[in-house]
Amino acid sequence: MTKRFGINLTAAALVLALAAGMLTSCLPYLELDEFTLPEETTGIIPEVTTEEETTVSPETTEEVTTEAETTAEETTEEVTTAEETTEEVTTEPETTPEPEVTETPWNLVLVNPWYPLPKDHEFELTTVTGKYKVDSRCADALKQFLADCKAAGHTPYICSAYRTWDDQVYLFDKKVNSFISKGYSESEAKVLAAKETAVPGTSEHQLGLAVDILCQSRPWLDEGQAKTATQQWLMANCHKYGFILRYPKGTTPITGIIYEPWHYRYVGVEIATEIMTKGITFEEYLGLIGPPEETKTEEITVNG
Ligand code: ZN
Repeated sequence: MTKRFGINLTAAALVLALAAGMLTSCLPYLELDEFTLPEETTGIIPEVTTEEETTVSPETTEEVTTEAETTAEETTEEVTTAEETTEEVTTEPETTPEPEVTETPWNLVLVNPWYPLPKDHEFELTTVTGKYKVDSRCADALKQFLADCKAAGHTPYICSAYRTWDDQVYLFDKKVNSFISKGYSESEAKVLAAKETAVPGTSEHQLGLAVDILCQSRPWLDEGQAKTATQQWLMANCHKYGFILRYPKGTTPITGIIYEPWHYRYVGVEIATEIMTKGITFEEYLGLIGPPEETKTEEITVNG
């Protein structure tokens, strides 16, 4: 078996040797064949390429991830901006009311049955005519107002201007006593008096910026004043001097005062022009209509 196997091996070696010789002679063709195999090689490259692509994919993913992170950061910045905006909005209401309460301009102080004269309201007085005085800051405007009215051929005259606290107390007590003399109790008389004369502390005359002006030909405090040429000139031109007709007809629910076509109040030319042009009240201009929520006063006066 061994020998036989050896013969077979020898025979196999011979076959191999012959085969090797044939292979050697055919080598150029094989080389050519190898050069003709690029298609197969190309067939492999795509696989490599695919792997490279696969390898590249994570990079792409990283890029996407980076972009995503950037976008997220930008979004976060936007959110931060939104928070800043929210802070600004939140800040405004906290700071706005303070100056309004503590720094009301002197010419915009409201005094009516629901808003009494501020205790810290200070001003100097200047005489306009006779015993009548007003806040010095509107005295010249008032003098010019009257002078121009007279120059237009009319006969205006002041019948009431600044009133001290005592002046208003005197007027109010006088009105109370008139009702007591008619048989009313003191409490009843005070309620009735408050409808005709402002309760001390709630008259605009105490502010020094209000003045009652009548026509000499008709010296009465009634609605008929509106028909005089003097009042019609005063009403038509008051805003040019910074004054407004303070209690227009039909505005009693808003002002708390009856129609008074003789009572003028200084607010300044710009604001007076806006109020008279729009035909609104001082309360409407200020946005302060009716009593404050913490106060309830039903008293309506007749003579502001
Ligand atoms: Zn008045």
